[in-house]
Amino acid sequence: MKLHTIALGCQMSEADAAEMSLPLLKRGFSRAAVPDDADAVLISTCTVRDHAEHRAVSLIGSLKSWKDADPRRVLIVAGCAAERLGDSLRRRFPHVDLVAGAKSIESFPQLVERALGARFDGLAETRESFGEKASGESPSAVSSYLTIMRGCNYSCSYCIVPSVRGREQYRPAAKVLEEARAKADAGARELVLLGQTVNSYCSELAGRPLRFADLLRELDKTPGLERLRFMSPHPHYVDERMIAAMAECRTVCPQLHLPVQSGSDRILGLMKRNYSRASFLAKAALLRRRVPGIVLSTDIIVGFPTESEEDFKLTLSLVEELAPASAYCFKYSAREGTQSAALPDDVPREVKEERLARLNGLVGRLTAAALKAQVGRTLEVLCEERGFGRDRGGFKVKWDGTTEPGELVRIRITGAARRMLMGEADA
Ligand code: SAH
Ligand code: SF4
Repeated sequence: MKLHTIALGCQMSEADAAEMSLPLLKRGFSRAAVPDDADAVLISTCTVRDHAEHRAVSLIGSLKSWKDADPRRVLIVAGCAAERLGDSLRRRFPHVDLVAGAKSIESFPQLVERALGARFDGLAETRESFGEKASGESPSAVSSYLTIMRGCNYSCSYCIVPSVRGREQYRPAAKVLEEARAKADAGARELVLLGQTVNSYCSELAGRPLRFADLLRELDKTPGLERLRFMSPHPHYVDERMIAAMAECRTVCPQLHLPVQSGSDRILGLMKRNYSRASFLAKAALLRRRVPGIVLSTDIIVGFPTESEEDFKLTLSLVEELAPASAYCFKYSAREGTQSAALPDDVPREVKEERLARLNGLVGRLTAAALKAQVGRTLEVLCEERGFGRDRGGFKVKWDGTTEPGELVRIRITGAARRMLMGEADA
């Protein structure tokens, strides 16, 4: 029996897909590269923007013929769009066997058991041995995701995440540390901590409260671990303690994806982001002072309701000042049920597109400059697959060589193209 997984959207969706695969792998499934070779397809969906949800819905529709070809096949739709659309998905697509929303990820193993019932019970005798293999499978990647929290306690006015993922829930620190050790033992050299506002994490360890900065310090001691990254932090929780931990921990990489969304205080207020342009830029400047060489990136939304040309120019000037190495830029998409959906979506589509193009033009120039600045340098690269890896700042690097995945190599950068650096192994 074979399983094909598809993760749409962010890294959390990818990590969720991996986590939700485990009960199926334990049940005796192995991996299939394409749906045609699979007996079960698991889709982890995204709903953050209208476009993402459409993608999920059209993918589900397109799998009808796959299911019709063999009705014993199983189609599972999970994640954020599944949470939002729930029953309407079941009604519209009767060929879907199980709809499991993002809030039910903790109970997913039981849901799968119930949905599959006795369907694949011929495999029962192989469960144990496959189970052992399966649990070792996902952490053996050189760079591995580790979800430390789910949900979000913020209520950014444009964002659907809090409604589909619910309030923040933190994985207990002892569990996170144990999982980190298991992943490192299985070959992971880099861990990427995941959470919607990852740095609002809090827990306790040995009876004492533990904040995100403390977690970084604890994880820094993981034997065999070389690198630690995390995303997405919320600017509000970027504080002295977090910056000190970043500066002082050997494994924490000088890299931060810090979403700003807008450069206009008026728009930031309407977005309910809980920081100002000045306080955001001050935090970025402090990060640059305390974590030398830190590589910053960000997210931006253009065309939020009432965004004027003046507001947009403030976003452009913020981006110039921040000079991120990259940025994900999005057109505002009104999501049903969010606070901002009650405002008129009054920036015309052409204006959104024109602003997005101008912003992407600026970001493209900044990315090219950031890559060019690496040429001539020698970077420490963690090999993820033959001839490919990332440096500590997160730049992707390609080179000719026989380095094995998991090895750290010194690469002299000789050139840059689009989003990639090229180099030669340092003799
Ligand atoms: N928790 C993260 C963001 C998660 S959503 C944070 O607070 O930074 C990922 C990105 O999608 C956001 O940073 C934002 O830029 C974008 N986004 C979210 N909702 C959107 C919407 N309604 N329209 C357009 N972009 C949106
Ligand atoms: Fe959405 Fe804001 Fe929460 Fe990020 S912090 S997930 S943008 S509500």
